[in-house]
Amino acid sequence: MFELTGLVCWRCGSSLAELTLPLRRLEECRSCTAELHVCKLCEYYDTSVAKSCREPVADEVRDKEKANFCDYYRPRPGAYSPQSREQTEAQPRLSDLFGDDAGGDSDGDPMKKLDELFKKSDD
Ligand SMILES: [Zn+2]
Repeated sequence: MFELTGLVCWRCGSSLAELTLPLRRLEECRSCTAELHVCKLCEYYDTSVAKSCREPVADEVRDKEKANFCDYYRPRPGAYSPQSREQTEAQPRLSDLFGDDAGGDSDGDPMKKLDELFKKSDD
């Protein structure tokens, strides 16, 4: 029997407790529609080993985020790992921030504005 407790979407971290197991191949996350029969949600997924799979006889699955036909697939609780901030945060462009009126701004020290921006994005 599979253990449902603690099973979360590998992409958004939503609970998958309402899903019935074994997982259908085309099962999707209700929150972000990520496919769930994928390496990233699998017990055997491990980026530190060859083919990122600890199951030695499983066929290699190239796309770790696409539903696979792997017979060894086994959902792993707590598979969610937050993306790095670089990928999730939009990088503001200076021209968008200050625009054409950067020069005419009365309280206008651009470096001060930059400081405030970085403070905000640190939260
Ligand atoms: Zn999700």
